[in-house]
Amino acid sequence: MSNLKIYNTASRKIETFKPSGDVVKIYTCGPTVYSEAHIGNLTAYIYWDLMVRTLLADGFNVKRVLNLTDVGHLVSDGDEGEDKLEKGAKRDGTSVWDVAEKYINIFKKDYSDLELYPPAKWARATDYIEGDIQAVNKMTENGFTYEIEDGVYFDTSKFDGYADFAKIDLEGLKAGARVDFNSEKRNASDFAVWKFIKPGEKHAMRWDYLGRPGYPGWHLECATIIHEELGEPIDIHTGGIDHIPIHHTNEIAECYGAYGHSLAKYWLHCNFITIDGEKISKSLGNVYSLGDLNERGFSAMDYKMWVLSGHYQGTRNFTFESLEGAKNRRLNWRNRIAECYQSEIVGGTDAFSEILAAVNNNMNSSEAFAIIDNKNLSLEDWKKIDELFGLRLIADTPDISEETYSLIREREEARLKKDYARSDEIRDLLAKQNIAVKDTANGAVWQYL
Ligand code: AMP
Ligand code: ZN
Repeated sequence: MSNLKIYNTASRKIETFKPSGDVVKIYTCGPTVYSEAHIGNLTAYIYWDLMVRTLLADGFNVKRVLNLTDVGHLVSDGDEGEDKLEKGAKRDGTSVWDVAEKYINIFKKDYSDLELYPPAKWARATDYIEGDIQAVNKMTENGFTYEIEDGVYFDTSKFDGYADFAKIDLEGLKAGARVDFNSEKRNASDFAVWKFIKPGEKHAMRWDYLGRPGYPGWHLECATIIHEELGEPIDIHTGGIDHIPIHHTNEIAECYGAYGHSLAKYWLHCNFITIDGEKISKSLGNVYSLGDLNERGFSAMDYKMWVLSGHYQGTRNFTFESLEGAKNRRLNWRNRIAECYQSEIVGGTDAFSEILAAVNNNMNSSEAFAIIDNKNLSLEDWKKIDELFGLRLIADTPDISEETYSLIREREEARLKKDYARSDEIRDLLAKQNIAVKDTANGAVWQYL
């Protein structure tokens, strides 16, 4: 019996997680690698990292696959607009392949700066084109597709459960279909599983299928990667809430159309953040990357503290003031670790189990953080907390060296002798190591600045 309770988008209920086998199979929809991730994009990976770490702390084996969308899909959620990778290549003055390579490297650096647990597999969409083609063949054999001028489309009217996952109003969709609605499509909700490249159309990424150049529709890579790397149905599928009505709905349809299976048992979606109450957008100049936060004096760990101080399903508003609060909280926790080095702190024996219970309760990290704030914790507790949240608390808070300890003792002696010149000199030397000394009733205590 598992301790984890999570909100399953498929049932719209909090459920007790039951794994289907010995290994919990998880798939996370990853980034389209055409630009640097902004801090809103990164929230998802931080929340799903906590989910993986919670499962590991609960004693599960986990296999997680994260995809990298290096095939350009179109800027709009429909099958129209500009291809994102082509757009990135134009902007950077390079090829689509170089754009993908560049932003994959930047994403992986962000990922490791955020101390996120590496997936078992980073799956690049371009490595799965053969599987995509086989999947389209299968969907066609099973009668789910039709071919029109610009591609092979999934006929959503053939899949009875199509509207269930996102509770889509198909009638409303039909009535509200845009004027430029592709008139060859049979239903407004039909979507491309394979797009054809028109003669003369500039599209660098292309593969031959049905005797013409083309490329897979956006959603297909996820269904194919899950099929090849994990085997459906998987245990947990994660993404942002914007994925529910189109991307995930279409992944489910493709998996059913090709293999006759359901895709995942539990679906987790995280909400969006705003910045100073506004949407993240170029025109507002608030598209911050981790590098931008760094320039303002905040580390990736400070940002992670900020993200985990709220709930993954809540709408969160980011401000630099609240980030400052998260940074100070982390410094306070690090100084409590420093305290543990200096005196024997006996933690409440059940302190960590209370913290783990909070995250097992639909990943209530803000409650877990409040418990951490208020409990007496030993160094052993802090090690477990660090493992659960990946906050690099211990690594960034090493005990000080013997030489530094003797400097602190020398400062105390100087003060007793009223040699304030020497004690001030030592204070300045310690400050250079980011260490402050506080005089308490029990003698001098050092802290990180
Ligand atoms: P985009 O490149 O803007 O399409 O974003 C990629 C993914 O990042 C989206 O599909 C969302 O799931 C996620 N995302 C985008 N903006 C935000 C935001 N403000 N807060 C949280 N997640 C976001
Ligand atoms: Zn996906």
